[in-house]
Amino acid sequence: MNPFSPDITLTRIAPTPSGFLHIGNILSFVITHSIAQKHQAKIMLRIDDLDQGRLREEYLDDIFDCLDFLEIPVDLGPKNKTEFRQEYSQIHRFPLYAEAINQLKANDLLYACDCSRKKINAQSNKGSYPQICRTKSLPLEAENVNWRLKTDNTAEIQIIEENQPFKSILPAQITDFVIRKKDKSPSYQLASLVDDIHFGTNIIIRGKDLYDSTLAQLYLSELIPANSFHSTNFHHHDLVKAPSGRKLSKSEGASSIKTMRESGQTKQAIYRQLGQYMGFQDPIGNLTEFIQAYHSKK
Ligand SMILES: [Zn+2]
Repeated sequence: MNPFSPDITLTRIAPTPSGFLHIGNILSFVITHSIAQKHQAKIMLRIDDLDQGRLREEYLDDIFDCLDFLEIPVDLGPKNKTEFRQEYSQIHRFPLYAEAINQLKANDLLYACDCSRKKINAQSNKGSYPQICRTKSLPLEAENVNWRLKTDNTAEIQIIEENQPFKSILPAQITDFVIRKKDKSPSYQLASLVDDIHFGTNIIIRGKDLYDSTLAQLYLSELIPANSFHSTNFHHHDLVKAPSGRKLSKSEGASSIKTMRESGQTKQAIYRQLGQYMGFQDPIGNLTEFIQAYHSKK
């Protein structure tokens, strides 16, 4: 079902339709574009709508509107909401997620965990899971349980970062990470990995904050049916912070592109702001200028 040529270098941008896109999302898209160009990679739009409860029509519309308004092209993936619903929604890939989960289950790599977040936080530091349920043998088919992976945090993981292979291990923070959530839907780690394998993504560009997820996904890729995820070329870019030093995210109050547009900001004004976040010397006004400035700064 892979719709693309296996020979292309493919990366993706993967927004979630659970809010209006903000300047931090756009920054990640244009950084992806800059790095993709260096690798002559095609870019796929992959909208991660796994969390159907938080999905809203206007958030889906907003993704296409923003890409359009800011003239950020994508090579592959849905061109509009109809195409997205018909062909690309993660709903269509639930059988693939189930197949991967069943394989892990058949190999006795999963266990049920009924811990609340509160309980986990009380017994661990930095949110890592202290394996409370690993030896409890709760039935997997019980209601309201997470399915966790029995991880081996001493196992070597090979990762390719910017063409350079090196070895790592699974960090403590993602010990026994969740594979299937309490609502029976696949976890982000599982779905993202299965999607990347399905579409043949072979370069993944993401912020350094997702480095642990990369290790989790590489680890997981060795436990599901044969795939070439281990040969993915990763690029973890620096995180850009607001002038206040805070993270550029919705929860930190970053403005949505929608709000900026409604207050009369032009495309050029938004790019100028992106350039300021990046610390570019000269003002920029479009994607091409962003890409040029990104590479000349390096
Ligand atoms: Zn537990």
